[in-house]
Amino acid sequence: MKVVIARTAGFCKGVRDAIEITMNAIQHREKGEDICTFGPLIHNRQVLTMLGKKGVVDENQIERCAGKKVVIRAHGIPPYSRQQLHQQGATLLDATCKRVARVHAAIKRHARRGYYTIIVGDADHAEVIGLLGYTENRGAVINRPEQIEELPSHWDNVLLVAQTTQNEEVFREVEETFLKKYPNGIVKNTICDSTQERQAEVRQLCSKVQAMVIVGGLHSGNTLRLAEVARDCAIPTFHVETESDLDTQVMARYSRVGVSAGASTPNWIIRDVIEFLEAITPGAGTKFRWKHILERLAYGNFYIALATALLAQIAEALTDFDGSAAFSLMAAGYAFAMHSLNIYLDQDSIELNDPGKAAFYRKWRPVFMFSSALSVSAALILAYGIGLPNFLLMLLLILLGLLYGVKLFIPAGWEKFPVKLKDIPTSKTFFVPMAWAAVCALPYIAGGYDSSRVLYAGWVIFLLSLVRTTMRDFLAIQGDRLVGKETLVVLAGEKRTALFTVGVLVVLVITALCGPLAGISTDFSWFLIAPALIYGLFLIIGSKRRLREDPLYDVLVEIVLVVAGLSAMVWNLTH
Ligand code: SF4
Repeated sequence: MKVVIARTAGFCKGVRDAIEITMNAIQHREKGEDICTFGPLIHNRQVLTMLGKKGVVDENQIERCAGKKVVIRAHGIPPYSRQQLHQQGATLLDATCKRVARVHAAIKRHARRGYYTIIVGDADHAEVIGLLGYTENRGAVINRPEQIEELPSHWDNVLLVAQTTQNEEVFREVEETFLKKYPNGIVKNTICDSTQERQAEVRQLCSKVQAMVIVGGLHSGNTLRLAEVARDCAIPTFHVETESDLDTQVMARYSRVGVSAGASTPNWIIRDVIEFLEAITPGAGTKFRWKHILERLAYGNFYIALATALLAQIAEALTDFDGSAAFSLMAAGYAFAMHSLNIYLDQDSIELNDPGKAAFYRKWRPVFMFSSALSVSAALILAYGIGLPNFLLMLLLILLGLLYGVKLFIPAGWEKFPVKLKDIPTSKTFFVPMAWAAVCALPYIAGGYDSSRVLYAGWVIFLLSLVRTTMRDFLAIQGDRLVGKETLVVLAGEKRTALFTVGVLVVLVITALCGPLAGISTDFSWFLIAPALIYGLFLIIGSKRRLREDPLYDVLVEIVLVVAGLSAMVWNLTH
């Protein structure tokens, strides 16, 4: 089945900001401080469970917020609730979306001048309750044009606004009726641009596909409206919370399906739905899920081990030193063990980014533990076989790798510093490439090798691995942000990280060009310009389309490295 993915599907800016404010509060929480959200932060069970585990509960009653730090979610609250929360001694962290706050301000301004406000939206939705609170008891909520007729005719000054996630077409119809009844009325289309774009894209998509799948909470207003927009286009529409709500036999009737999602739908749920649909053969049912097999191999750290082994081949090809298969095995063993063991120290993030992956690791825990112990031992034995300095360096790398996720001893007075290496901002982005570069250059550290060549090879491998890690971080951004993991993309944002990655790619290309010219590398260096360009292409495509949401994205990122490594292997065999 061909699946067309809406570019606008997934978290909107307001939801992202609300999550960030909550995560910041958790991170900087003081001893004994209680944090809660006023109403569920987003419509997603897993995210709410994660917040619950971090001690952030969702409260609906003002009295229960007394003395706590209270996050006001993106929907906002009425002014009287704000006042009551203050009276209860709550400290407010205002995550009201800026676009919602603008509607509050508009209603307030007009209410002060005696205006009545008509809100087009769902009367029982938290955002609408908040908006109504600013009308100074001169407000009404409607959701159909006919309801305008039921409103008093004597209202002279009337303002018409919309819930920010309202259906654009419904609002237009209401506006028409409104202006007939209140010719001097003021209309403010307050539907947020994110909602408008999302709905416009669904309308466009509907003309290109046979059916639409809208992913998001069954009670999420904006998701319900997206489904409504798709249905209005007279196209079969399936509103689902997860892929398990889809029926294979029913979906097999279509060969081209569009997918969009609500503003609070996490990426991993969208990914699972896409993967499920792509595995369906129109007219038949579920086809052989080769993507599933590739994914399982990625879960098993197979690509990571393979990529590191091949990076060791790249080091050999760049330096022109005599290597051996043992060097590659050593690098692979190290990378496999460190990544596998660290996964068990990082369950929160995996649980949020990919619950399927987390379940896989839970199931195979004993196997991963045993094979990691075996790999570490093999890496140490192989390093010892090269020489004592190499053995000691490998031991150091293993210790650093193991310490990465372990709580360190922090002397009194230094408690504000991170207690784990993994808590150092951007550590995940930079430590992995550093470790990979070190383990690939390790065989040549001692033994009279030309140090400029060793350093050059280590630097190139660091750059290649840095690009690979940064690109994979894009994929994990939501979960990382939710668990407070400060990768580069979480800290600097997607745009700046993309620019940074482009910068690294440029440095990589220049380095690859100059190495042979400076006489510190073989001509193989020039071959590495190709993976740099392919990664650049991924960045460009990824920013325009939803390539990053595709389950195959991380496999593709690894495959580029694998192909570069295989070329190095061929080079080593033929030179
Ligand atoms: S849908 Fe629009 S208004 Fe609502 S939270 Fe998201 S960005 Fe803000």
